Amino acid sequence: MSDNSLRLVWVYPDLLSTYGDQGNALVVERRANQRGLHVERHDVRSDQPVPTSGDIYLIGGGEDRPQRLAAERLRRDGNLSRAVANGAIVFSVCAGYQILGHEFINDLGQREPGLGLLDVTSTRGEAERCVGDVLADIDEPLGLPQLTGFENHQGVTHLGPTARPFARVRLGKGNGTGDGTEGAYNDTVFGTYMHGPVLARNPQIADMLLRLALDVNALPQVDDRWYEALRTERIAAATQPA
Ligand code: GLN
Repeated sequence: MSDNSLRLVWVYPDLLSTYGDQGNALVVERRANQRGLHVERHDVRSDQPVPTSGDIYLIGGGEDRPQRLAAERLRRDGNLSRAVANGAIVFSVCAGYQILGHEFINDLGQREPGLGLLDVTSTRGEAERCVGDVLADIDEPLGLPQLTGFENHQGVTHLGPTARPFARVRLGKGNGTGDGTEGAYNDTVFGTYMHGPVLARNPQIADMLLRLALDVNALPQVDDRWYEALRTERIAAATQPA
């Protein structure tokens, strides 16, 4: 953070932005503006260098081929890892989450190295894709309300010893390992399988990212009625029998 200005980096919208994940950037931007912060938003295409001076980096989901291209470019670029070493906050979704781990299986069926920013490893699930609405309890120390989101992935993500599960599913598959975990985090790096866009459905997560960036324990309240209506509708849809 510098002079009341928050640097928000949306990584590779040209490769990673399924299911309206770009909405995550809009929600963070809006909620920061509502707290009087000026937001410098950088949408970084995959042919551009990732800036190292961002406060919050957001990465979305993607199909298998764009996911491999994004991983190759992020590895070559190296700046996301530098930013994290400088204390930056990263919030990643689905393909973005898998890329932050040690490795995943790419579209060619090969093991593709990730960035190793999260202690997770993704394999290809043998069972059918994990698709549908998810309800989960977010890891208690984070103090956040129930997680609502939508998942669609073949990958299955295994957590290593230094990754904490971001949430535990009540409904849906999450990491797909059968242990009930959903997503992972460690310090300032977060990964989730949730689309929605997830920060529109869970604005308290956006606020957590802002609190981390500002290094504060609380933020001024904002009008959450729109978000609450969306949450109520999606949670009801998830819990009602089809
Ligand atoms: N290609 C990845 C998988 O199927 C991620 C999909 C996504 O981001 N929606 O596991």
